[in-house]
Amino acid sequence: DPHGIQDVLRQLGIKAENPAYSTGRQWGGAGTSLKTIVSPADGQRIAAVAVATVADYETVVQAAQAAFPVWRLVPAPQRGDIVRQIGLELRHHKEALGKLVSYEMGKILQEGLGEVQEMIDICDFAVGLSRQLHGFTMHSERPAHRMYDQYHPLGLVGIISAFNFPVAVWSWNAMLAAVCGDVSIWKPSEKTPLVAVAVQHIIRKVLEENDLPEGVFNLVLGGPEVGAAMAADERVPLVSATGSTRMGRAVGAAVGQRLGRALLELGGNNAIILTPQADLDMAMRAIVFGAVGTAGQRCTTTRRLIIHDSIYEEVSQRLLAAYAKLPVGHPLQAGTLVGPLIDADAVALFTDALEKVQREGATLLAGGQVVSSAELHGGHYVLPALVAAENHYPTVQAETFAPILYLIKYSGGVGEAIRLQNDVRQGLSSAIFTLNLREAEAFLAAPGSDCGIANVNIGTSGAEIGGAFGGEKETGGGRESGSDAWKVYMRRQTNTVNYGTELPLAQGIKFDI
Ligand code: NAD
Repeated sequence: DPHGIQDVLRQLGIKAENPAYSTGRQWGGAGTSLKTIVSPADGQRIAAVAVATVADYETVVQAAQAAFPVWRLVPAPQRGDIVRQIGLELRHHKEALGKLVSYEMGKILQEGLGEVQEMIDICDFAVGLSRQLHGFTMHSERPAHRMYDQYHPLGLVGIISAFNFPVAVWSWNAMLAAVCGDVSIWKPSEKTPLVAVAVQHIIRKVLEENDLPEGVFNLVLGGPEVGAAMAADERVPLVSATGSTRMGRAVGAAVGQRLGRALLELGGNNAIILTPQADLDMAMRAIVFGAVGTAGQRCTTTRRLIIHDSIYEEVSQRLLAAYAKLPVGHPLQAGTLVGPLIDADAVALFTDALEKVQREGATLLAGGQVVSSAELHGGHYVLPALVAAENHYPTVQAETFAPILYLIKYSGGVGEAIRLQNDVRQGLSSAIFTLNLREAEAFLAAPGSDCGIANVNIGTSGAEIGGAFGGEKETGGGRESGSDAWKVYMRRQTNTVNYGTELPLAQGIKFDI
């Protein structure tokens, strides 16, 4: 056990076999079929989880329903205090949890720790927010009337999360939902259930210490069928789902069918534009981090680089030099910058995409090989690929969830670069590197980037929790985390109070009886 994984599991309360669900304070569902979880870093078994059935899901929903009427009466700042305590526990477990994120998902340790930090940050944000869930006061057109809007707790919030941010994205949703007075049910990715179990142990301790009802935070470890049950469930007014566009279409349709609310955070196909006036030293770090960080498995990964032809040669040479010395290796090994892909299927999607795009006319400039060394035996490692391509190639138009960076040339003005950047079906993150004010503002103006995130002189990945996170078009339109994203977790009510002695009607209507 060179990386001390057994210690981490002990600290986080992960047993060799883990039950399928937790209604906050009680675990249940053990004894159904077991799924073994192996690390993508070395193929070693970490532990097994029981796979929850739809009947297990039913138990969880009932616990959540019982908790909601209690939780919504707890004053919001007191709900914030519970979230504050969760944040303190997360600080206490940051090292161990970060390490388990790294080992179970495959991202490098620094990124695993960063993910836990993001959870801590959203807790702090939510604590402040718990005193700021405010609406507007409007002036009524009628005398002696007062009009305002207020936000009430919504109910049960379903959270379906993806493997690549196995805990942070849950916390963006669950911590905001909690201060908003909602109870949550989390269905993590079936590829990364153990970090969810670890987090649920932390939650359970806080619920117990505060003598709170058990169904405030719930967990259910199942596959897509449990997610589908949640999407179709009328008792769950909001389903927040993060994952592929294919999943989003299914969940969005099921939630829409019953006129529920869906918050969708789906795939991206993010680009950085490099104009002739880019600061290339700065851009290089952003590009390489954006393209190969988390082995290309971030929703905000830089997948396309749109380069002015006057600097194309210099940029490609510098990238070739950087890619030649990328430290690919075990994610817990100090010095590694690129860890493994999540599984063998992901490796196959990577190699298939490279074959396909070359048939479409692209040139592979670097990388693309599957790495097999004695040291990395059992893991799913690849060398990040650099590909000269054109934007319209079908493979470039799709999100391949792996480290492939397409270099795309443009020769006209910034308008042409923006047109190429927007000419994909996804609309998550985008960036421009330029020191020219006109180019930067054109990128941010209405005819500019059509993405939910548009950055100047910053790459596409690594968003802060203070902003609203999400994207347009096939990315699903949802917004999570900071700014006023909290409003989707509440039900809005417009109130008008007449404190006068007359009953004037709006629009001056006369209706004398
Ligand atoms: P995935 O779609 O395979 O799975 C995501 C989750 O959806 C899992 O929990 C899965 O069990 C569930 N699911 C799958 N099909 C379902 C269905 N029909 N009904 C209900 N639930 C279903 O995605 P993944 O491979 O885990 O994650 C990678 C994808 O997630 C990428 O496309 C990436 O861009 C996207 N992603 C987006 C964001 C964002 O904020 N926009 C963040 C992270 C990841």
